[in-house]
Amino acid sequence: MRLSRYFLPVLKENPAEAQIVSHRLMLRAGMIKQSAAGIYSWLPLGFKVLRKIENIVHEEQARAGHIPIQMPILQSADLWRESGRYDDYGEEMLRMKDRHGRDLLYTPTAEELVTDIFRAHVGSYRDLPLTLYQIQWKFRDEIRPRFGVMRGREFLMKDGYNFDLTKEDALHAYNRHLVSYLRTYERMGLQAIPMRADSGPIGGDNTHEFLVLAETGESEVFYDSAVTDIRLGSREIDYDSVDECRAVMEEFTALYARTDETHDKAKFAEVPEERRRVARGIEVGQIFYFGTKYSEPMGATVQGPDGKPVPVHMGSHGIGVSRLLGAIIEASHDERGIIWPEGVTPFHAGVVNLKVGDAEADAASEAICAAMAAAGLEPLYDDTDERAGAKFATQDLIGLPWRITVGPRGLKNGVVELTSRRTGESEELPPEEAVKKLA
Ligand code: ATP
Ligand code: MG
Ligand code: MG
Ligand code: MG
Repeated sequence: MRLSRYFLPVLKENPAEAQIVSHRLMLRAGMIKQSAAGIYSWLPLGFKVLRKIENIVHEEQARAGHIPIQMPILQSADLWRESGRYDDYGEEMLRMKDRHGRDLLYTPTAEELVTDIFRAHVGSYRDLPLTLYQIQWKFRDEIRPRFGVMRGREFLMKDGYNFDLTKEDALHAYNRHLVSYLRTYERMGLQAIPMRADSGPIGGDNTHEFLVLAETGESEVFYDSAVTDIRLGSREIDYDSVDECRAVMEEFTALYARTDETHDKAKFAEVPEERRRVARGIEVGQIFYFGTKYSEPMGATVQGPDGKPVPVHMGSHGIGVSRLLGAIIEASHDERGIIWPEGVTPFHAGVVNLKVGDAEADAASEAICAAMAAAGLEPLYDDTDERAGAKFATQDLIGLPWRITVGPRGLKNGVVELTSRRTGESEELPPEEAVKKLA
């Protein structure tokens, strides 16, 4: 992509409305534009990262054997009356009427909708296990939308729902989700710690939230610092194996890690004092097992092996897809701007031409872009006639992991400069070598 033809409306000044660094940087890097309180347009750079995050979520869900669907944004209130949640859900639910006076709502979550799909089409235990999920916009009329995409009113969520014959099977689905979420976050360069949480209005008694530690997080968290040493890494987990999934769940949840809602002072006191941590975290996901809470009132049953109808055991599992952009930036930035982890970066490298119009510099820059494309990498080519300082500032702000700087002086010696955004270290090397290092 040529920067001169792209749409990257960066801001020079710090926007006054942004209280935390991720919000400030997303506005300054031209990633989002607020349209109303807690409601945003996604500009090209932000949209690109959003799509990358979605792709990782899809890939990891596929790996776990979960099946994507797409449910509508607007729902009929009738299903929510059946489950009893229409009146319970409260003011976070945006309600509206159509021209015939029928009650509609903008989906805040979709347990009822998916249960309705299930009961219409699944009749036998032989069709289980089944996990359906979607990535879809949600609306919650948050009392205090703030921090940009971190607490929006309209936000993108992955929501998945498992249907199983027994509690045991549903707990396997729970553990499978836990493993797939750990892998999902790690691929985004994030450490998200599963913490025992409170089930809130969704109900049920088995639930963990995934928290990214950050000073600006809205949750207070209490944990054993040893929990931050555990990584899933590149282990291959067989998602069909009950034992393998359970072992990972046990490993990641054995140490004390809780949010303020479930914090237990006496238990925390048992953690060795030097490892006790009280900090703040950003909730980037949550998994629930809630049994037959929806299947029973809504009549979502299957015929069991003995021919009798059994209400299915369910759970629901969410990832805050749009919130993740904020969380990643909170976890990875410096005073000059964003530092994208390789897994989610909008472009793999910026190619900065210091002398646009110089035949040699232009040709070398274009050759580098072509070589990158051939290697499956996407460059952002700064072919504008800004000063070098301004070009570098933009590169630092938008946080691409690598910058390749091309100028007549280096080209005389056959080299360009490759700079790591994270370490700031540069090396001079021939253009082909620079591209090789990226691949
Ligand atoms: P919170 O405690 O932050 O209000 P929640 O517990 O109400 O979140 P869930 O119902 O668990 O949210 O939804 C799944 C995920 O969706 C959350 O873990 C979070 O990452 C994301 N999410 C929830 N509310 C918002 C919001 N207002 N803006 C952006 N993301 C959100
Ligand atoms: Mg909430
Ligand atoms: Mg919560
Ligand atoms: Mg939650």
